[in-house]
Amino acid sequence: MDKFELLKQYFGHDSFRDGQENIIDNISSGRDALCIMPTGGGKSICYQIPALMSDGIAIVISPLISLMKDQVTSLNQNGIRAAYINSTLTPAQQSRAIYNAMRGEYKLIYVAPERLEAPAFLNLCNSIKISLIAVDEAHCVSQWGHDFRPSYLKIADFISKLDNRPVISAFTATATDTVKRDILNLLGLKNPFEITTGFDRKNLFFAVKRPQRKQKELLAIVSEHKNQSGIIYCATRKNVEKVSDFLNENGYDSLIYHAGLSNEIRSKNQDDFINDRCNLIVATNAFGMGIDKPDVRFVVHYNMPKNMESYYQEAGRAGRDGEPSECILYYEPRDVRTNRLFIENGEENSELDEETRKIVKERDLERLKQMTFYCFTSECLRQYILNYFGEKSSSYCGNCLNCQTQFEEVDITLEANTILRCLDALDWNYGAATGIDIVHGGKSQKILGKNLDKNPEYAVLSERTVPRLRQILRELQFREYVEEKGEQYPVICLTPEGKAFMETEELLVMKLPKEETEKKSESKEKKNRRKKGVVAAELSEKDAELFESLRELRREIASEEKVPPYMVFADKTLAGMCVMRPATLDEMLEVSGVGEHKLEKYGDRFLEILRKG
Ligand code: ADP
Ligand code: MG
Repeated sequence: MDKFELLKQYFGHDSFRDGQENIIDNISSGRDALCIMPTGGGKSICYQIPALMSDGIAIVISPLISLMKDQVTSLNQNGIRAAYINSTLTPAQQSRAIYNAMRGEYKLIYVAPERLEAPAFLNLCNSIKISLIAVDEAHCVSQWGHDFRPSYLKIADFISKLDNRPVISAFTATATDTVKRDILNLLGLKNPFEITTGFDRKNLFFAVKRPQRKQKELLAIVSEHKNQSGIIYCATRKNVEKVSDFLNENGYDSLIYHAGLSNEIRSKNQDDFINDRCNLIVATNAFGMGIDKPDVRFVVHYNMPKNMESYYQEAGRAGRDGEPSECILYYEPRDVRTNRLFIENGEENSELDEETRKIVKERDLERLKQMTFYCFTSECLRQYILNYFGEKSSSYCGNCLNCQTQFEEVDITLEANTILRCLDALDWNYGAATGIDIVHGGKSQKILGKNLDKNPEYAVLSERTVPRLRQILRELQFREYVEEKGEQYPVICLTPEGKAFMETEELLVMKLPKEETEKKSESKEKKNRRKKGVVAAELSEKDAELFESLRELRREIASEEKVPPYMVFADKTLAGMCVMRPATLDEMLEVSGVGEHKLEKYGDRFLEILRKG
């Protein structure tokens, strides 16, 4: 069978996505490959299809047990023989899997990198034909990445011990040059085909908000997404619990996930989320690797993460199925401080030497700064993200909050100079809030007690609103005219660039949201998005009823077979059935997402409902 037939027959997809075909061709022709594609871009089939096309067994190295289990279940669902070998299996189960592998029962085996050191596994690999080795989440090999796993360093060693070196391919969503170089070197890729596909995820709507009351704002979002899956990321365990309690108290059932919970609870909660038994999960960044749930409709960052890599990866867990989904980040200055503390006191890199640690720390602080700038920018958010990952893009995407907000260009030269002069006259001992308080003419104990009302710029901007002054200060930070630094707590100070600017006569213009129109455009934007909604929302009323009946059947089958509902059929596939109304099995095969294996297993039951509908 050729790759197109395999794609349709096993996976039910009609066409390849960006990059997939090229990668499959290269791997199948025997060339190593380094593939950089965004989360949800569709990396898995890039090695699964070559595995199906060649003799022997493909070894897939994957960092997480949950990830393996999911992938294997999903493959089995599609009628592909695959297994995983890891520590969750009893020794007897492991031997059995190895025995089956020896007999050529599988097309793919998933293993954790630790497994590669086991002599029994090496023996196995030297007595079967290995079609290819695929290293998933390959950035884990680099200590410059955001997810370093020392065991990944053992991969090259393992490969060198194989009698025959198979073709090696590496997959990641991390695109920085250092990480890329590390992957090439540390995995020992030979003259690899390299590809970085577009990082853009067009179906994702991006927004940064600075709500006065985050909890209330969150309620609005979850109520907009009733009966849809969503992830809410918080920076700390305490926050996770607080936010989850709040949602529960307000009638939105939510589960929690963080490293402080027992393994049982964590995997139960994860399971309930994946299987649609609960729609909302509030979690720290411990949650997500290994969650390939395709129909997550929104990801809220209740706190700002520490860098853009983490942000895009976490936010990217929304809308893997390509349907419209939202990624919303709540910015609060406090989060910058929390993150800075994490970085400065981080114990994460304790195995590194002093010098390296220092470099890592500086780089982490720089990354935090870039993350903060994302929250400040009034330009297109998608463009900011893509530029960060080294991709050029248009300055208007139309599908982020900034593109949808009405901005006006405002001359802020006077305000800017006032703030800069105020800071110039101020000791480097005060935070941003105090700086603003001075120019705004605050009369707090702190201002009067420290004689800050003697600052030459005191109350010069008393006519401006505090939020607007904050926006202007953020712009100055964005332009690096001022910066926050400090050992104990962040203090705001003038940079040499800021000083230089004060001495010029340059005008400073910035884009600010129109103050009075803000509310109106917000609700219009919400309505627009709701209208777009998921595919299901585009269905006519009659189709929507049918859709619900199909979902009901899907739930039934999923619980019979003990797999997540989305592994039976995706929402999009069900919606496709409603629109196309297939009357025969052949017609049903035309619906995107229906492969032959699933058609055989489920076709009749779905047809029955469709006939009635
Ligand atoms: P990644 O590993 O790059 O994050 P996955 O391999 O998990 O992404 O794929 C993400 C989603 O995209 C899955 O739900 C998968 O079924 C879907 N997908 C992958 N390739 C295609 C395709 N060619 N057409 C339609 N859907 C696809
Ligand atoms: Mg993946």
